Amino acid sequence: MDVSAANSGSLASLRMARKHYGQLCALDGLDLGVAAGELVALLGPNGAGKTTAIGLLLGLIRADSGAVTLFGQSPHRLAARRHIGVMLQSAGVPDTLQVGELLALTRSYYANPRSMADCVALAGLDGLTKRRYVALSGGQQRRVQFALAICGRPRLLFLDEPTTGLDVEARQRLWQTIRELVAEGCGVLLTTHYLEEAEALADRVIVLAQGRIVAQGSVQAIRAHVSQRRIRCLTSIAVETMSAWPHVRSASRSDARTELVVDAAEPVVRRLLAEDPGLQDLEVHRAGLSDAVIALTRKAA
Ligand code: ATP
Repeated sequence: MDVSAANSGSLASLRMARKHYGQLCALDGLDLGVAAGELVALLGPNGAGKTTAIGLLLGLIRADSGAVTLFGQSPHRLAARRHIGVMLQSAGVPDTLQVGELLALTRSYYANPRSMADCVALAGLDGLTKRRYVALSGGQQRRVQFALAICGRPRLLFLDEPTTGLDVEARQRLWQTIRELVAEGCGVLLTTHYLEEAEALADRVIVLAQGRIVAQGSVQAIRAHVSQRRIRCLTSIAVETMSAWPHVRSASRSDARTELVVDAAEPVVRRLLAEDPGLQDLEVHRAGLSDAVIALTRKAA
């Protein structure tokens, strides 16, 4: 994708952003933009530079070179930061306050905040407003942090691992709320190691490794970077035998179930059927986003 096109109309953008920590190059000329009504997932292994990129956009750290803009301005300007909502991994919430008090306090910073009832409903905080933040479970605290991030009606939301610690139902609920906010025109920059989350939500995925973009595009486009498939079946053919077949990258067996990672499914399936008339429970899976991200970041390394 043409980066200048990707960044035009962006709520937030990095252009050729570089950041070193001493000798270590954390970001090596990164281009990134998030538009209104778009959810961009920033993915990559530990140390890839995701937090550094967010830190630049939030004005928490300064780039060595390149341009960093938030609503067309420097992220250090309060006028730009008024339109963002932020949910980072470490929260820094005054934890002796009750949830309702925290929400009231944060809402008071904004000219036109969301109603208390909306915040409670969107973040799934029913029944929790009288509870002290410090006494909540990790997942409940995470939901409060989400409510605080959206109470000012942000035009751009930064979500750093938002569903860590959430149970399955709370996670699905939060995904639905995020989808609704995006449909209303909010831009979202999401970082997550939980790739199912990116698969469920992202309009665009950016894969970072060692401070550089190694791939970007829709979830489909990223998956298409790897031709790899997984074949699962019950077979009596020895794992060592199958490992030596053409197109088979690896073969393993656990609990009697065999899994083959292959770079072309059809010839391997034909051979399995030909060599084992007793073959059962055959399944062929395409590469998921996690397979693709692992392959892309390994290649970059
Ligand atoms: P993770 O998935 O683990 O959160 P990340 O993609 O967010 O990783 P960053 O935190 O941006 O990665 O780190 C990028 C690189 O910069 C890493 O090698 C990290 O060790 C280094 N780094 C980050 N912050 C600092 C700092 N304050 N001082 C020195 N090095 C740093």
